[in-house]
Amino acid sequence: MDFKIFEDLLKQTDIVDIIGRYIDVSKQGRNHRALCPFHNDKNPSLMISHDKQIFKCFVCGEGGNAINFVQKYEHVNYFVAARKVAEMVGFSNDELKATKFERKISPNLVPLYHCLTDLASFYATALQTSEGKEAKLYLNQRNINNETIKKFQIGFAPSDGTQTIKFLQSKGYSLKNIEDIGVLSNLLNNPFDRNQGRIMFPIHDHDGQVVGFSSRRYKEGDDSAKYINSPETPVFHKTSILYNYFNAVEHVRNAGYVYVLEGFMDVFALEVSGIKTAVAIMGTALLIEHINFLQN
Ligand code: ZN
Repeated sequence: MDFKIFEDLLKQTDIVDIIGRYIDVSKQGRNHRALCPFHNDKNPSLMISHDKQIFKCFVCGEGGNAINFVQKYEHVNYFVAARKVAEMVGFSNDELKATKFERKISPNLVPLYHCLTDLASFYATALQTSEGKEAKLYLNQRNINNETIKKFQIGFAPSDGTQTIKFLQSKGYSLKNIEDIGVLSNLLNNPFDRNQGRIMFPIHDHDGQVVGFSSRRYKEGDDSAKYINSPETPVFHKTSILYNYFNAVEHVRNAGYVYVLEGFMDVFALEVSGIKTAVAIMGTALLIEHINFLQN
């Protein structure tokens, strides 16, 4: 892919217009300001410069160009964000139509990726309902604040695990798709979500695509496993993933160092303290493959 297309796209894009499609923006002198959507902002801390075509939050440090804003706001990778921006501004380019991500995977895996993305949204929404209230309280008590919940798309699998299956089927996915992404239990021909009643942590690959989940028990007296990870699936290969890599990579490049932690709960702890250069191994040893990723 020729990276010049991003430059061309950005030249035709007005960042004030793009951000204004997501949040309220007001003009202040030469710049524009808004409440920052990436932290719990009370005073407008997000500065948008029309001249420089960048945004920057002076409190949480998030910043970048119009594509970066969409990327962070919608939790998508850079290519998907660029494509969305291109649609908004009417920029047409064949290279952008198929993202790098979509071109490098085989077509039969596409429904699995879509299914995982829809499922992560379903879980995230369920955490905000009355049924997810207790799970959310548990997270808050573990110092995982609401911003961190949002950023990492932490969710909740409803206790009635047939709801997950019904939701995915209503979206057009087959039981085979649901089985292939590793969330199906099918005892006595009664399909349900094997993570029912648990807190859900989506696991993203290095492009920011959801590829699996880790779930955690939280209820007193629940004697099921503390953590359950998605099994290896056609799209989830534990050893090839560093948790939070896709969020951390830009910060790591700027800072020149990285914290490699044991588990994703450790990443949240650092995130809450404002440290964005942390990744975690997914319960495996640190492998040469991981080190290669970090050196790129
Ligand atoms: Zn902020």
